[in-house]
Amino acid sequence: MKRTKPIPLSEEHYLDFLRSFIKTINIAILVQEEPGVYKPMGEAPDFYKSLYPSKDGFCSEPWRYSDFLEFFREEAENFFEKMGNTTQMYTSTVWQEEGIDDDRALIATALVIDGKRIIVIRSLAEDYVERVKVLRKARENLLETRALYAKLEKYRHIAQYDSLTGLFNRLTFSEVLEEEMQRCSKTRVPLSLLVIDIDDFKKVNDTFGHMAGDSVLSNIGRILSTQLRAGDIPARYGGEEFVVIAPNTNEEQVFTMAHNIRKKVEKFNFGEPPILTVSIGCTTYKSPEDQCTFFQRADFALYDAKRSAKNTVKIR
Ligand code: GH3
Ligand code: MG
Ligand code: MG
Repeated sequence: MKRTKPIPLSEEHYLDFLRSFIKTINIAILVQEEPGVYKPMGEAPDFYKSLYPSKDGFCSEPWRYSDFLEFFREEAENFFEKMGNTTQMYTSTVWQEEGIDDDRALIATALVIDGKRIIVIRSLAEDYVERVKVLRKARENLLETRALYAKLEKYRHIAQYDSLTGLFNRLTFSEVLEEEMQRCSKTRVPLSLLVIDIDDFKKVNDTFGHMAGDSVLSNIGRILSTQLRAGDIPARYGGEEFVVIAPNTNEEQVFTMAHNIRKKVEKFNFGEPPILTVSIGCTTYKSPEDQCTFFQRADFALYDAKRSAKNTVKIR
């Protein structure tokens, strides 16, 4: 391949090149002569002349006709003041000068290069401004949608979970139970249900206060969410009553499971009260009965437990 030798550019050539370049890209470069006084570098481009008419397009106070640039000049002065001779740059946002420059946008950048203080002004065509507007709108929409989704997630969580224990609430429990009943009817894999009620909870509140009562409830929530098998689904049914959906669990297994929960609670150190117990009623699903019948049988079993001696498990 043939290589051409680079032609050394004189400073004059270089400046000529810069001037022509500046004209084609619609950019005005102003070099600071002294604070507040700027001199355009090369011939000022047309947009600049139309912004600041003077006989030769050369204006030592180019901001006379533009509020925006007047405003930017103040910002630039502050920026230069702060930067000293450190190479840095500061760009203003796109600005639309309605009526002054035919709705075109200007971007102004203040630069410190090798100790020189320069302001670069770019004029942007209308279609560019439109594109920026569309992009900005799209960005706003995106942010709005994101914020809405975040809110939706928050409210979805509030609607599905119990805030004190972090377990599913009664509504979610009912939905999940319905799904599990359908699955059980289809697959014939046994499904069981436990209803758990804290014994003499009113006394806990009366003796140790509501805060202690709340702490007991959240500890029960913790015991249930950490001590059960992976597939079991605990929920707070309301007040001091909890439920556990136990898929793939027959009568014998649910009875053992309920006893384990009862023992865990009995041994747990709640602090206040020193001793706390629960009664549990459990049952197994008999397809195709409805949810109400299924739940009621577990609830009756709970009443059996309460009527006997509390701190017990009954099955129906
Ligand atoms: P039993 O052994 O028969 O179940 O008696 P109990 O005292 O546990 O049952 P009872 O229904 O008489 O009282 C339940 C108490 O639970 C009354 C109510 O103030 C309390 N309670 C319900 N929800 C909450 C709660 O979110 N926080 C607190 N601290 N107490 C609650
Ligand atoms: Mg109760
Ligand atoms: Mg109770």
